[in-house]
Amino acid sequence: MIYTNHKIEFDESKCVGCQICYKACFVDVIRWDAEKRRPIFKYVEDCEHCNYCEVKCAKGAIKVIPDYGSQSFRQTFDCYAKKQSEA
Ligand code: SF4
Ligand code: SF4
Repeated sequence: MIYTNHKIEFDESKCVGCQICYKACFVDVIRWDAEKRRPIFKYVEDCEHCNYCEVKCAKGAIKVIPDYGSQSFRQTFDCYAKKQSEA
């Protein structure tokens, strides 16, 4: 299990229940509460911080806050740095 502390802020008062964020997320982070017509940010630790949900929400209800100190980020950047040094 890779430790992350990613956060997603959601302002329910701005949400209009359009489902765009739910359909935009390509991993399993956002689920849908059909009764309340609101997204559920369920598996935030799996977020790839692509910011697509934030960009697609026309109401500005979502703010993705990546954990830049997380192990998953360090692994990504270490791989990138290694490739650069080998090039
Ligand atoms: S895209 Fe924005 S307005 Fe639409 S359901 Fe998601 S949070 Fe709500
Ligand atoms: S930032 Fe990307 S991966 Fe994370 S919840 Fe939004 S769409 Fe999904």
